Amino acid sequence: MIIKKDQSVIQNYLQDCSGVCGANADFVAIAEAEHDISEFLVEMSKSDTSVTVAGALTGNTASGLAFGGAVLSLEKLNKIGKIDKIDDKNAVIAVQAGARLNDIKLEVYKAGWMYPPDPTESSSSIGGNISTNASGGRGFKFGSTRDYIKALKVIFSDGSSCFVERGEYCGNENGKIIFDTDKGKKQIVLPKYHLPIIKNAAGYYNYPGADLVDVFIGSEGTLGVIVEAVLKLIPRFTEVFGGIIFFKKRNDAYEFVNKVKDISKKTRKQGLKDSINAMSLEYFDENTLHLISSDYPTIPRYAEAAIMFEQDVYEDNNQDILMEKWIEIIENCGINLETVWFASNLIEQEHFRVFRHKIPERVNEMVKKTGIAKVGTDFAVPEGCLSNIVDFCDKEFKKVGAFNLTFGHIGENHLHANIVAVNDEEYKKCRQVYANIAQKVVELGGTVSAEHGIGKLRHVFLKKMIGEEGFKEMAKFKSMFDNYGILGCDNIFPKKYSQL
Ligand SMILES: Cc1cc2nc3c(=O)[nH]c(=O)nc-3n(C[C@H](O)[C@H](O)[C@H](O)COP(=O)(O)OP(=O)(O)OC[C@H]3O[C@@H](n4cnc5c(N)ncnc54)[C@H](O)[C@@H]3O)c2cc1C
Repeated sequence: MIIKKDQSVIQNYLQDCSGVCGANADFVAIAEAEHDISEFLVEMSKSDTSVTVAGALTGNTASGLAFGGAVLSLEKLNKIGKIDKIDDKNAVIAVQAGARLNDIKLEVYKAGWMYPPDPTESSSSIGGNISTNASGGRGFKFGSTRDYIKALKVIFSDGSSCFVERGEYCGNENGKIIFDTDKGKKQIVLPKYHLPIIKNAAGYYNYPGADLVDVFIGSEGTLGVIVEAVLKLIPRFTEVFGGIIFFKKRNDAYEFVNKVKDISKKTRKQGLKDSINAMSLEYFDENTLHLISSDYPTIPRYAEAAIMFEQDVYEDNNQDILMEKWIEIIENCGINLETVWFASNLIEQEHFRVFRHKIPERVNEMVKKTGIAKVGTDFAVPEGCLSNIVDFCDKEFKKVGAFNLTFGHIGENHLHANIVAVNDEEYKKCRQVYANIAQKVVELGGTVSAEHGIGKLRHVFLKKMIGEEGFKEMAKFKSMFDNYGILGCDNIFPKKYSQL
């Protein structure tokens, strides 16, 4: 284990993309081997020192930021194993938690496979992705990180560890799971609060019959340290095409999305060939388009909204027929084809992915300049509730004059509404607006986080979903894994509940 005590080095581990200031730590421990971590955690438990695991620190919720104690970095545990082909359609790969997503993706792509989860920030670590159940635009077709984790190795704060495969340990009718570690059996009981059955990254996974692998996914560094993962791979597409469509009226964008979603779902259900089956559907509102208009001056000024779509193509598809079908649906929505930005292959489509990435990048730059924490929602709502919540957000935004923008994964009814506060007073008002939006989301049966997690910034919003009792249940649940209470303190639920 490498220990860094020099504050100038430690500072590099105390900033993520949340804009939160004031993080601090006594030292940073950089693991050089897995056994380092077991020994280290035992030592930290004995000395009652809190430990925050830092991934690549691209998180938006301050969950990777320490406020006291030690930072544990897995940056040196970044090995990417060999691909293990099961059959023509299935393969797996073992990776260490510190491996970067872009390195993993490239490695498997070169071998003709694909690891589908695609959080926009691909410099993130796989350990961070698993701990937040990250997803991205392509989640519309491929789902989230959770759907691609076959097995995990986790080290607990008592120094014990387990290697758990999906399907090995699941909750019984009372939510009880008994599992093996290298130092004997552990027993846990799942919390009972209710979580919505939609895309979700808020709170410990507790659905009936929950798989232990799923319990660790999205646990934000609070239950144990993930050191290794076995990832599921699927055959890679041979080509991708797509486009960005500009709409004069926001409602027309929703209508287009609904049509594409309906057809895509039918294509999947019926296994149709050469029928529209969108890989991603991304939404940008008017202010989002303004934000990046200096980077992209040809964005039409009339546009009240835009939709970016991607369609993946495989060997047995006819790309020309697929493209014709997209053109037909776009024209049927009254769009002049000359105003659409098309990409007919992967290389061209990559420009649109850069366009998409530019948005959170610009928001984060603005937030950094203000020195005030980011106010950004990450909600998802059930099917049919999207325009309702967007209209509600609009009304709420009008209550504060601050710059706001909404964009994101419209295919999954999952949007990021961001408000950029420029001073503390405005920040308070923005947080209130966020709270009102969270309340409405919960009333609609949605979730306050669909991909970034709760971290240290969203306790009050999660409370609207699971109540105070839910926090108490969470604290009890965490203690079944982390009986010394040192891991990821203040992540997901306020740390005071652990001390009750
Ligand atoms: C420009 C931009 C775009 C983004 N786009 C997306 C997006 O499209 N989708 C999305 O989901 N997110 C997105 N994010 C957020 C972020 O990239 C993800 O949350 C990512 O999963 C964080 O990974 P990380 O390695 O940076 O983790 P960190 O931020 O370092 O940590 C996140 C959490 O994981 C825990 N953790 C990290 N490693 C481990 C481990 N080995 N064991 C246990 N706990 C661990 C930390 O303690 C913390 O709780 C974006 C961020 C930026 C800046």
